[in-house]
Amino acid sequence: MVALDFKELNHMPDGLLERPASALYQQIDGPTLIHLEGQNKCPLVVSVLQHGNEVTGWEAVRRLLKNHYPNYELPRSLVILIGNPQAAKHRLRRLDDQPDFNRCWPGGNEVDSAYTRLFRQVHDRFRELKPLAVIDIHNNTGLNPHYAAINLIRPDYLRLAALFSSKVVYFTMPAGTLSLSMAQYCPSLTLECGQAGEIHGTDHTLSYLETCLHLDEISSNPVNAEAVHLFHMVATVYVNDGVLFGFGRVPADLALRQDLDRFNFCELPAGTSFGDLNSLSKQPLVAVNPDGADVTADYFFFGQGQVETTREIMPSMLTQDRRVIQQDCLCYLMDRIHFEFDEAVTGPDQLPEGINRSDRPGAPTL
Ligand SMILES: [Zn+2]
Repeated sequence: MVALDFKELNHMPDGLLERPASALYQQIDGPTLIHLEGQNKCPLVVSVLQHGNEVTGWEAVRRLLKNHYPNYELPRSLVILIGNPQAAKHRLRRLDDQPDFNRCWPGGNEVDSAYTRLFRQVHDRFRELKPLAVIDIHNNTGLNPHYAAINLIRPDYLRLAALFSSKVVYFTMPAGTLSLSMAQYCPSLTLECGQAGEIHGTDHTLSYLETCLHLDEISSNPVNAEAVHLFHMVATVYVNDGVLFGFGRVPADLALRQDLDRFNFCELPAGTSFGDLNSLSKQPLVAVNPDGADVTADYFFFGQGQVETTREIMPSMLTQDRRVIQQDCLCYLMDRIHFEFDEAVTGPDQLPEGINRSDRPGAPTL
């Protein structure tokens, strides 16, 4: 098996900041760590382009360094991981012969490979750096608000996430993500910055990184539960195999609402219609909880020519991209977590009341 390597640089290569994600491969051919020194030596780790078509992170880093710190006089050291310049060249999440990079970090389910070994090395490097925080930047499809996802419910993690958005998602599945692998060592986030290429996504991410670079520390004092809305995944929803589906007025078995992705991050009342059923020969949707159990009947009712929700629920990652729906899923369902911190809840393993260790939230695309 081929050995894979990541490169480490202690400077920004000349000309790299001039390149869009799709041209990075001309200067760096694989995963690369770039260390830039700032006044505070405890670094902020920022990961971009683990998925080659999710360019917002790189766009934000480029603008941050070109316009705000042309001489790299950063308030805090910055370590940038550029994940997959080869996939970025082709504007793809990953190449056909590559695994999903954000499933290859320690603790994941990927079989041992050159990639899992490579990301184990990068992970160990991050741990040596003892960073202030690790921020892994992504995009998604569909109309989703910007939000941060955390993997441990602690005040400092919530505080860092809430600086990006008042909506915060908690997940422990899928395994093998960068933020999950680092969560027990430092505040660690996955940022979802809307769709790739949206200028306000880059603006928001840029100003967030600027804020993080100026933080002296991340307080562990309890956060205001009113100001942070925390959700966790309870199910993944698929279109059932063999069911013909479309959007709007189409003669398919399942005609989903044209504007379905407007439901993302909306708390929908029971009885909300996802679309029309033109055929009931097969159950149109399947909802699966993180343990793999079929929980469709807990969330959907199929009758009277409609797909309706049976309880209050909040979807996310709804998309109208048929390829994403077929390869990944239609959406995730989320429940609100009501959290309260007392003095004691600061340890890495403690969860607030109401969250059981058996709750294993499901999988954002991340
Ligand atoms: Zn991603």
